[in-house]
This record gives sequence, structure tokens and C-alpha cells, in this order.
Amino acid sequence: MSEIIKRQNSQIIGMTLAELENLSEESNQSRFRGRQLFNSVYKQKIDSFENIKTLPIIFRDKLLDKYTLHPLSLIKKTGSNTELTQKYLFKLSTGEKIESVLMYEDKRVTLCVSTQVGCAVDCKFCATAKMGFIKNLTAGEIIDQYLMISNSIDKKITNIVFMGMGEPFLNYQQVINAAILFNDKDGINLSSKRITISTVGIIPKIKRYSEEGHKFKLAISLNGSYQSQRLEIMPISKTHSIDDLIKTVWYHYKKTKKLVTFEYVLLSNVNDSILDANRLIDLIGDLPCKVNVIPYNEIEGPFKRPSVQRINEFVNQINNSKFIVTVRWSKGTDINSGCGQLAVLES
Ligand code: SAH
Repeated sequence: MSEIIKRQNSQIIGMTLAELENLSEESNQSRFRGRQLFNSVYKQKIDSFENIKTLPIIFRDKLLDKYTLHPLSLIKKTGSNTELTQKYLFKLSTGEKIESVLMYEDKRVTLCVSTQVGCAVDCKFCATAKMGFIKNLTAGEIIDQYLMISNSIDKKITNIVFMGMGEPFLNYQQVINAAILFNDKDGINLSSKRITISTVGIIPKIKRYSEEGHKFKLAISLNGSYQSQRLEIMPISKTHSIDDLIKTVWYHYKKTKKLVTFEYVLLSNVNDSILDANRLIDLIGDLPCKVNVIPYNEIEGPFKRPSVQRINEFVNQINNSKFIVTVRWSKGTDINSGCGQLAVLES
């Protein structure tokens, strides 16, 4: 255990400016070397200590000796035949594997990052749930998915979504630290509007997030129109009920004046009727928000994707409401990289 902590503490990617300044001082260097290191790692994305030429050789040697730069190593990249989508398989320094998905759409290049190895939440329609919970990722392991992929492609990644493996709000602090590093003007410099954190709705964490005043976009996986229906497909509703969730999103709106996006996975004959659409409209009421309907991506299990006609009928029904409705036709389902299909099946 202490070996693992030591290894994670010695990873440079994931450290804040203050941590790198302290590290420089502890290595008998001026504090401003910390800023140079920060700039080299996050802004210039230099991928080895040897190539950080702004630092004195003696400091570079010390870094080489005591620290690792990348907490991840890339194992495999799989391209979709039907979409401009790529799935990346990474290994952590402790041996576990995670996946990230890169999606190209016009000018937008979106990276979907994982936040945990496996997931504890057990949503019945999600492949990641079948892995169980293995461990939390550090901020560095989250950020490195971006840095490693950025370095291997020609285009600039324009958007980050925390929608890969895991439940971000059950790894709250590391996820927030990673989002802050993505956003840092002196580093990766992605606008907070281009960073989305998605949660199943961990109520105390949504409150905390609202109180801390973060500007990243928040998405909430609602997936049901009433408590007993949601409970059947998302056991987490036992602790975080649908009514409490809606109240908490109201709280978030009042505190931040920001709209959340409700995600709604459409499952045939489970939550896709016109009655469900009407219940959803009533449940949301006047709450300012967006709704993103995700037609189910099939994985092993009892669920089916509704027909296109049924999807359209559901969407048309909620289109007459006050909120904005969009449909997310997931990318890369042929390589199991659609929403809810990440499960590290390959090695
Ligand atoms: N745990 C977080 C982050 C993952 S985001 C969350 O649930 O919000 C993944 C999104 O894909 C969630 O909205 C989830 O409800 C949805 N999803 C899960 N399994 C799916 C599947 N098989 N098909 C379509 N969407 C799925």
C-alpha cells in the first residue's frame, strides 16, 4: 500500500502549480522552476523530462531519478469503421486498465475520460457496472488520458466529458482537481464551458459542487420518470431518490444560475412510452434545464433499444415542453465505445 502511495506521489502529471513549486524548492531549485515545469507539462505537453530544455540538467536528472512523468501507458488504440471515433486502452502504473473515447464531429473533438477503474453504482443497463468497483483514478491519471492522446493526434481536443468508466462524484476531489487543471489558463486552458462532468446524482456532492461555485457543465443521468421505475434500473435511487434529486438540481440552479443537462437513456418498454414522456415533463416542471435522450446502446442483458419510430415519438412528445431536447446517437458502438459500453473487455 505505502509503495502505491509513494508511486502516485511521485507522478508529476496531476500536480498543481503550488505542488510543483514546492517540489522545485525541495530539490534545491528556485520556485520559478516549478512554473517552468508546469508550463512544459501542461501547456507545451512535452512528454519526457529530457526534453524540458528550460530546466537545468541537474534538475532534469533529479526528476528522472525520483519521479515519473506519465502515470499511464498506452496499450492499444481501436478505430471505429463507421464513425470518426477511437477508443484508447491505457494501463495504470499499478496494472489496472481503463478506456477513453475520442470523437470527431465537424470542428469539435471530444474526449470522454474515465474517472474510476470499474464502477460501484451498478446501473443495470451499463457495461462498466459489470466490472464492479476496482479503484479511483488520481487527477494525474485522468489528465494523462488527455495528454497522451493529444500528443498522438494532429487536431486539438476541444471538449472534455467526464463520461467514461466510473462515477465522477464518487471520486469527487480528484475529478474536481483534474477539471481545474484542464481549465487552468497557464496550462491546458480549456474553457469551463467545454468541460462536462456527468453524475448519477450523488446529492451531497451536487450540493457541494454548487456551493463551491465551479463553472464546469453538469450533466445528470436521470434515466427514469418516477421513483420506482428509476430504482429498478438505478439502485442508487434508494439513497438518492428522484424527488430529492430534482430538488437538489433546483438548489444548484438557484445557487449558480447554470442549467444542468439531464441524460435519459431510452430503454425499450422500460421508460420510453408517451406516458413516460409526460411524466418526465411533469417531473421537471419549470426547472430550467436541457434533456439529452440517449438511445440505449446494446450490451449483454435484458434491455433493448427502442425502434427509431418509438424514439422519435418520445422525443417529439417532450419537444413540446419548456426545456431544450437533444438526441445523442452514440459514436463508435461497433467498437463498444458508445455510452455505457466501456468495460475493458480486451487486453
Ligand atoms: N457515472 C456517470 C458517468 C458516466 S456517463 C453517469 O452515469 O452519469 C455515461 C452515460 O451513459 C450516463 O448518462 C449513463 O446513464 C449512460 N449509459 C450507461 N449505459 C448506457 C448504455 N448501455 N447505452 C446508452 N447509454 C448508457
